[in-house]
Formats: sequence, C-alpha cells, structure tokens
Amino acid sequence: MGLREWAFTACLPAFKRLEHDLDFDNEWHGQDGPIPIRRHPEEELAPWQAIFLEACRQVGFPSCADTNDPTTTGAGPHSMNKVDGERMGVLRTYLTAKVRARNNLHIVPDTLVRRVRLRNGVAYALEVERFGRVFEIAGDRFVIAAGAIASPGILLRSGIGPENEVRRMGVEPLISVPGVARKLLDHPGVAVFFWPKRRGFSLPSTHPLIQNVCRYTSAGSECPSDMQLQPGSFVPLPDKSFPLVTLAVCLGKPIASGTLRYESAHVHDRPSIRSGLGASIEDQRRIREALMWIGKLARTKEVSNVVNFIYPSTRPFDNNGNFRGPLWQVMGSGYHPCGTIPMGTDDDPFAATCGRGRVRGTRGLFVADASLFPTIPSANTNLPTLMLGERFGEWLRDDVSL
Ligand SMILES: Cc1cc2nc3c(=O)[nH]c(=O)nc-3n(C[C@H](O)[C@H](O)[C@H](O)COP(=O)(O)OP(=O)(O)OC[C@H]3O[C@@H](n4cnc5c(N)ncnc54)[C@H](O)[C@@H]3O)c2cc1C
Repeated sequence: MGLREWAFTACLPAFKRLEHDLDFDNEWHGQDGPIPIRRHPEEELAPWQAIFLEACRQVGFPSCADTNDPTTTGAGPHSMNKVDGERMGVLRTYLTAKVRARNNLHIVPDTLVRRVRLRNGVAYALEVERFGRVFEIAGDRFVIAAGAIASPGILLRSGIGPENEVRRMGVEPLISVPGVARKLLDHPGVAVFFWPKRRGFSLPSTHPLIQNVCRYTSAGSECPSDMQLQPGSFVPLPDKSFPLVTLAVCLGKPIASGTLRYESAHVHDRPSIRSGLGASIEDQRRIREALMWIGKLARTKEVSNVVNFIYPSTRPFDNNGNFRGPLWQVMGSGYHPCGTIPMGTDDDPFAATCGRGRVRGTRGLFVADASLFPTIPSANTNLPTLMLGERFGEWLRDDVSL
C-alpha cells in the first residue's frame, strides 16, 4: 500500500526480535526475544487434535511443521506463545521486574485516559482519571495504545476524527480526520459442534482447547493460506456434562467491515459495534467453501468413527456437501478487532495516521496498536501487534523522528 516501513523485509527483523522460538532456528526465526514460541509435539496432542491432523492428511492437505514460516501451508501444530499451558503475554515477558525498575519507566495503574489536550494541533497533555480524580499528565510525545476499540474513542473525545461524528458526541471538533473509527476490521469465526459417540472420548477443559491448525488458500484468493481450519478440544460451556468438540474456520482476509460508534464523550460509555461479519457475498462464499472442507473432514473414518454432528443440527450438510443453514447460526467474532485508526500514505484520504503512526494534522501524537492496520493480517493479530510495537520501540530508541 506504499508504506515502505511495513514491507515484509522491514517487519521480519522485528518479528524475529520479539521471539525465542524453542523449535526452529532458521532465517524466519529469532532466538533471543522475550516471547517463547513453541508447538505441541505429537505426544502432547489431545485425541481430537490428533484425529484432526489424520483427517487433514486423508483429504489431501500437506503437513506443515511450522505455521510461522511464510513458505508453508497445510496442517500441523499451531505456533503458540504458550508454555506449560499458560500464555506468555507481554506483561510477563516484556514488563519483567528488571524492566519495571528502570528509571525512565513510570507505570501508573488503574488510570483511564479521557482525552488528549492539544494547542494548535500540538499535543501537550493527557487528561486522565484515577479513582474518580481527574488530572493532566504533561509531555511532548504521546503514544496511544488502548487497542482498536478504545483508541479511536480517545481521539474522538479529543476532537480528532470525522467532524460530524465528533460534534454528534458533543465535542468541539479540533482536527478533521475522516478515517478515525470509519470501519472496524475483524476475522469472522465459524464453528460446528460434534457430540462424541463413546463416553469419555472428550474430557472437557482438561485438554488444551487448540493445538493444531490447517491453513489453505481459498479459491480465487490473492493471499496465500488465508483460511484456517481448527479443531477445538472442548466447548467452554458452564454445564460440564456436555463433552462437545468443534471444527472451526477463521476467514483471514474478509472483504466486509464493521462500524464502531461512540454515542457520547463520556469515558465510561461503551461504544456500539456493528460487526459486519459475513456481510460480503465473497466472504460468504469463502466461508461456505471452508464449511465444505469441514464436511469432508467429518466424513473421514477418523472423525466419523468417534463423533456425530450436534450443532447447528445433526445433519448440517446436504448430499452434495453444502452447508444447509444460514451462516449467522454458526458465525461470530474471531476476537481480532483492528483497523479503526488506519495508517496510510499522504494521498489516502482515509489514512488517519502516517506510516509511523502520527495522527494526521497533529504533532506529538501517535497511535501504536492494532488500530493502525489498514487491512487485517491473515494471521491472528497478537503477534503482528507485538511486531508493530517492536518497530515503534526501534524508532523511539534510535530517536528517529516519528
Ligand atoms: C478473547 C480474546 C482472545 C484472543 N485470542 C487471541 C489469540 O489466541 N491469538 C492472537 O493472535 N490474538 C488473540 N486475540 C487478539 C489480541 O489479543 C489483540 O489483537 C491484541 O491484544 C491487540 O493489541 P493492542 O495493543 O492493540 O490492544 P490491547 O491488547 O487490547 O491493549 C489495549 C490496552 O489499553 C487499555 N485501555 C483501553 N482503554 C484505555 C484508556 N482509555 N485509558 C488507559 N488504558 C486503556 C486496555 O485495558 C488494554 O490493556 C484475542 C482477543 C480477545 C479479545
């Protein structure tokens, strides 16, 4: 899209820097980063996960040992930041005791950013709220990283965004940035549920929920491996007597987008979200194609020997292998919201920031989180967001003018 900072060759060193891959040491991987990455070996697989891999082999998907190698596709263990069953997120791995003790880092917990204060387009303070007390924090460079739902709210409350939206919220418009909260991107997730044929096959919650994935390219897609098929070892239902397992789909490059609307400028008000999931005919076609793959996997002897369909029905596919039901029955958010403050080139009227996250029309005000993605990454969004954070860290460390 013309943003050279974000070419793959520029991003790869940041991806490598953030990880310590415990399984692979090659051109795609780093060994010295804070986030451990590993894959479940065969001997750790829950029965449903092992069955999934065998069924994928039966229907012709190639085997894939490393989903984080961009030259691969097919079925295998999903690369994860999970060690001994626990996610190794940034609070544990980046904000270590040693880092927290740094003189140039001051963490103020339980503090909500209400808005950014600007004078003639220059950011000079944050207005924050802590246990009901409102005060300002002065500075000359602010990096907003409140996530794709909350960051646009901070900008809108500050008078930055589409003028009519800002005014509707009761805020005086300061800087017109039409791209703020114009659209919300997410991965549609679709799942069908199975009921075990024999008692004790699935032991809810005692197995890892997800261990494996099968990536493939949907028909006509320009993005390789844009689709993910994934087995779920249990369904986290409150009633533990339902030992269900799932096969799920994640659409990696949806065309449809949703909207995010802030009703008021009150910092505690939640925005309303219209997800727009599956609103495009092409998205629906790809999801139905993926459901056909699920139908094929379900007909293999590995799967059909152990489970029956239970949701959305006991016979969700017709004789030609087409999913019978409406998609809304099986579709929901993939929990990957992004794209609400998209970066872009100067000639893009809907670019809300430049390629280094500086909010258009401002000085000293930056965004550095999943809001910035102008299109949704085909992979899950956590690692790309960390990579983005690494790039900002690089620029701040080298004091390159952001
Ligand atoms: C249920 C769920 C499961 C997910 N599972 C996966 C997964 O398995 N793999 C994957 O790759 N991705 C997953 N994701 C997506 C991933 O978590 C996000 O893409 C990633 O965290 C985005 O990072 P971020 O920095 O943009 O925002 P966040 O991680 O959301 O960070 C924003 C922070 O800002 C704080 N904040 C918000 N508003 C304010 C304010 N006004 N003032 C001060 N602070 C504020 C929030 O409390 C939060 O700590 C999942 C998401 C969800 C919701």
